[in-house]
Amino acid sequence: MADTIFRKIIDGEVPADVVHEDDRCLAFRDVSPQAPVHVLVIPRKEIVSLAHAEAEDESLLGHLLLTAKKVAADLGLDDGFRIVANSGPDGGQSVDHLHVHVLGGRKLGWPPG
Ligand code: AMP
Repeated sequence: MADTIFRKIIDGEVPADVVHEDDRCLAFRDVSPQAPVHVLVIPRKEIVSLAHAEAEDESLLGHLLLTAKKVAADLGLDDGFRIVANSGPDGGQSVDHLHVHVLGGRKLGWPPG
């Protein structure tokens, strides 16, 4: 098992501001928020990045997106939100455990840097 900070959060070794959890995933507030609402949705399963996901993960990936939608609704992002999944060095990924960013609470710029 990779020893990432997200694995430690899943295992309860590192605290997090959890906003949702179930048998397949966990959602918690990003420690360095880039918007008024910035939550990370992560699978409990060890998947390094989206580039490492397999066909057998199809349902889990759908669950992550539906959880992101639920979190956005629960946190009042009625005017919209953004989902981001950075993958690999060029994608800006810094933690090697698949995660979906949910960003909202202000008007977000486009394109990203
Ligand atoms: P990425 O750059 O896409 O890999 O995103 C990783 C995110 O994890 C960054 O936005 C970090 O601020 C966030 N992060 C790192 N450590 C923690 C932590 N202990 N609790 C919450 N968020 C974290």
